[in-house]
Amino acid sequence: MTPYSDRMNERIVVRGVAVAPGVAWGQAVFHESDVDIPILAISEDDVGEELKRLSAALRTTKRHLAALEKNLAQEVGERDARIFAVQGLLLDDPEFRKSMRNRVRRDLVNAEVAVRDEVDEWSRRLRGLSAESERDPGADLRDVGRQVLRVLAGKPRQVPVEGDGIERLIMVAEEFLPSDAANIDRAQLAAIVTVSGGVASHAAILARSLGIPSVTFVEATGLPHHGRRWIVDGNSGQVIVNPTDVEIAEAEARSRDYREFRAALEAETRDFARTKDDVAVELMLNIDVADDLTPESLESLNGVGLYRTEFLYMNRPFFPSEAEQYRHYCDVLRKVGDREVTFRTIDVGGDKPLPYLSVPHEPNPVLGWRGIRLSLEWPDMLYSQLRALLRASAHGRMRVLAPMVTTVEETRRVVAIVREIQSDLKQHDIPFDPDMPVGMMIEIPAAALATGLIARECDFISVGTNDLSQYALAVDRNNSRVADLYQQFHPGLLRLLRDTIGQAGRAEVPLCVCGELAGNPEATLLLLGLGLRSFSMSAYDIPMVKRVVAATDLAYARKVATQAFELVDIADIRAHLRAATLEVAPDLRSLMESDR
Ligand code: PEP
Ligand code: MG
Repeated sequence: MTPYSDRMNERIVVRGVAVAPGVAWGQAVFHESDVDIPILAISEDDVGEELKRLSAALRTTKRHLAALEKNLAQEVGERDARIFAVQGLLLDDPEFRKSMRNRVRRDLVNAEVAVRDEVDEWSRRLRGLSAESERDPGADLRDVGRQVLRVLAGKPRQVPVEGDGIERLIMVAEEFLPSDAANIDRAQLAAIVTVSGGVASHAAILARSLGIPSVTFVEATGLPHHGRRWIVDGNSGQVIVNPTDVEIAEAEARSRDYREFRAALEAETRDFARTKDDVAVELMLNIDVADDLTPESLESLNGVGLYRTEFLYMNRPFFPSEAEQYRHYCDVLRKVGDREVTFRTIDVGGDKPLPYLSVPHEPNPVLGWRGIRLSLEWPDMLYSQLRALLRASAHGRMRVLAPMVTTVEETRRVVAIVREIQSDLKQHDIPFDPDMPVGMMIEIPAAALATGLIARECDFISVGTNDLSQYALAVDRNNSRVADLYQQFHPGLLRLLRDTIGQAGRAEVPLCVCGELAGNPEATLLLLGLGLRSFSMSAYDIPMVKRVVAATDLAYARKVATQAFELVDIADIRAHLRAATLEVAPDLRSLMESDR
């Protein structure tokens, strides 16, 4: 057996999923996020007193959340700080509060046990909606619960990382929760490594806003920490435990280069995207939270290519009214001015559960009741959303997009509902845009192969490569065990994409790609070469893709795409695309190490 001291000093390289970019090194400390709680049985006589303690703790936590929101707003902006307002809403949920009080009364336990058990129960229920969730809605609830427990323990403002004296702290944790970001000394915090938590978790959003490199899905509990040196690469997802001095020097250099290069890239890409031979390429933003939007963020972009409306419906205790939805969509349209927004109807189920919608347990949620399937069977929700959207269409340029479409019949049903609502609005003299385009998302391989047929029944097509890849490859996009098999440059997938783009072209229906592949600079030449002229991606990816577009002409992109189809091995295809990209945009090298 390896002696303990040897193992503690062993150089270990692990790979997780990169959730916030940047490179950092520092000393690792494991952060235990659970709070020790007293477990007490109480008598009937103590119930009143215990309920009072519970109410007081909930009130205090609410005040703390408001303070956290205010403090963090100055640093990361109001949008991301609003996470704490969402947590406040969870705390106010009448059902949740009632269930905690009932537990004290029924089980005769102290407030701490009631909070702990109810948080466990509710987060299990939320998680139960999906086996593998990209964004675990229970994480916010657990965070709130932990804060209430701290208040009950009389230690509300605990900064729980025992990294005193450490200059560059690598925080290693089972899970990183939003309140950690607010409570921790950020001057000290160099990077975050977690066992669980997805790319779309609130904690990941905060880490990105704060510019803290972060990697998740790392089996970190068994790795040497206790102040050991680690390098965390938030671009590639690589973590090196006990690196050599040379590796640390390299990491420092990469970190510096990365920061300088990104700053320069962002400054230089202020024009609309055009190829070297002056062909306009539409670049649009993917938006998850409305507040990501500012007129400046769209200055040299063609609009919002994917507005994921489900985020308006998550993180709240109940479904928004039609009036609230309408106000929200009008607000988005106001923010984007003369640009076009593609609103996707709610895409829940599968990996995106809604806390207040109880979906019966499904053995394979990702193959189950999700996206438009769920919306079509839940007409109240779909009608109220579409009605709100259609009313908003009178106030700006917008399109509506249906997610996870499988068949032509579904396409017809969605379009028919839109027409029905439009005629109702007309009858009631409520203004709307009768020409608003209605599109279908292609995310299912059978639908991809039928793109031409679907395109005949609607106005545009948007390809969601994230789901299309998971279904075509039979690889759960959120399962770290099979992450190595999630290969977007699989030759079969490339053929599927070529066919999809070709079918839409022949049907003369506009097609956009809005999955992560559209924002991957290694895929830009290939997609351009296949005829794609419309890309939608997260803000982070825009400067890199713009740079590749500006550096190529179409003849080169077509040649690169043709050559990619002559290759067989995924590794060879990737290497070819990477080399071809670096040939025209050599300075992207440092940003193209990621494994996505
Ligand atoms: C996709 O599947 O590619 C997509 C854009 O949708 P989402 O990532 O929201 O599932
Ligand atoms: Mg999808």
